[in-house]
Amino acid sequence: MQRGLLVVISSPSGGGKTTVIQELRRRCPELKYSISATTRPPRKGEKNGRDYFFLTEAEFRNKIAAGEFIEWAEVHGYLYGTTRQYLEPLLQQGETIVLDIDVIGGLNIKKLYPQDSLLVFLKPPSVKELFTRLWKRGTEATTEIVKRFSRVPWEIAKAKEYDVVIVNKDLTKTVNKIIEVIQNYKKHGGR
Ligand code: 5GP
Repeated sequence: MQRGLLVVISSPSGGGKTTVIQELRRRCPELKYSISATTRPPRKGEKNGRDYFFLTEAEFRNKIAAGEFIEWAEVHGYLYGTTRQYLEPLLQQGETIVLDIDVIGGLNIKKLYPQDSLLVFLKPPSVKELFTRLWKRGTEATTEIVKRFSRVPWEIAKAKEYDVVIVNKDLTKTVNKIIEVIQNYKKHGGR
């Protein structure tokens, strides 16, 4: 059976990652999506078990202690993690799985699955545009926006360690490029 592939997609907050992943999944319905656990409260419209598994901090910390996470990180003051229970069966079944995780998580996945992961970083066309998107999204309070924004230079610096960096200017072009790199990876059995 073909080995599974982990497609990590990371970008700074407001980088358009959610829209890109939605479009990618619409065009490639065979892709699986890794549902993370988080201590962040749900945003309007988010559903437990579909967007995230929403946990209390105590529940999350118990899972860390029990070794249930493949990777986890603190991002913007909340805990986020990928569970073994969710990901490993998919990988064993040879699925291609999309992970929307931060750069710490992405680089940990690369360390754990060097042959079976593909790391894609979506870079905003400009920092100004990123700020505008984050502001217009209106889902975060001002202090939250400042917190998210202060992490951007560090995130962009980490992009060097990713396999592919795409400047996310145009949704269709970005998604085309992601599909192309996944297909190339599978064709050549690696990067
Ligand atoms: P948001 O709160 O906007 O949904 O996500 C905040 C950040 O956490 C994003 O960069 C997202 O990619 C990241 N994230 C979501 N799930 C995980 C996870 O399971 N592990 C890690 N390391 N980061 C995650």
